[in-house]
Amino acid sequence: MKYLIFGAPGSGKGTQAKDLADTYGMKQIALGDILREEVKKDSPLGQKVKGYMAQGALVPDEVVGSVIEENLNVDKFILDGYPRNINQAKHLDSIFEKKGIKIDGVLYLDVNQDTITKRLANRRVCLNCQAVYHLINIPPKQEGVCDKCATELSIRKDDVPEVIAQRWQVFVDESKPVLDFYQQKGLLIKVDANDKKDVVVKRLNDAIDKNEHSS
Ligand code: AMP
Repeated sequence: MKYLIFGAPGSGKGTQAKDLADTYGMKQIALGDILREEVKKDSPLGQKVKGYMAQGALVPDEVVGSVIEENLNVDKFILDGYPRNINQAKHLDSIFEKKGIKIDGVLYLDVNQDTITKRLANRRVCLNCQAVYHLINIPPKQEGVCDKCATELSIRKDDVPEVIAQRWQVFVDESKPVLDFYQQKGLLIKVDANDKKDVVVKRLNDAIDKNEHSS
């Protein structure tokens, strides 16, 4: 079982990928989390990517390509946050070819700009254990504190209004050719993701079950 999950920042990719990974026993490979972890460790890779991430800009393709390649050595995975542009999609295809990997589908979380602007402004994250909250839809039990590890919650540096707008524009510019690429391969599975988490979870589960039965 091998899926990609694709959508704008704030479409719920990370949250949904985690849920799907738990439900179907897939490994969640989340590029943004891997990179944030490197920044936190202040590793050479972290130092290289830090500036791009704080501005909401994409890290150069040649840097992230090798990070992905190193992480794909599992049978069941859901890849979250890669590819984000057509170059990355083509690069990923060449990695799949080299490794003899065939994916089952690309889950596209379709959202509009209004939905994501509201979602990202309400997002809070735990920088210690990577848990993600939403002040209205998924609030922590105690205000401002992570349920899982009791660390104080933070606002991601790129979840501020100017950077949110910049990330949306990057997504609009880069996503169309990627969607066309997977549509032409017959792999695109589009799911309306403007609703609350549980509604979207159900839609995704139904879409995967249908896809697994037809393959
Ligand atoms: P995310 O957690 O997916 O919102 O990603 C946070 C940041 O990590 C992005 O704003 C980029 O700076 C970087 N990043 C994540 N995925 C990619 C990618 N596929 N290509 C380049 N940079 C990425």
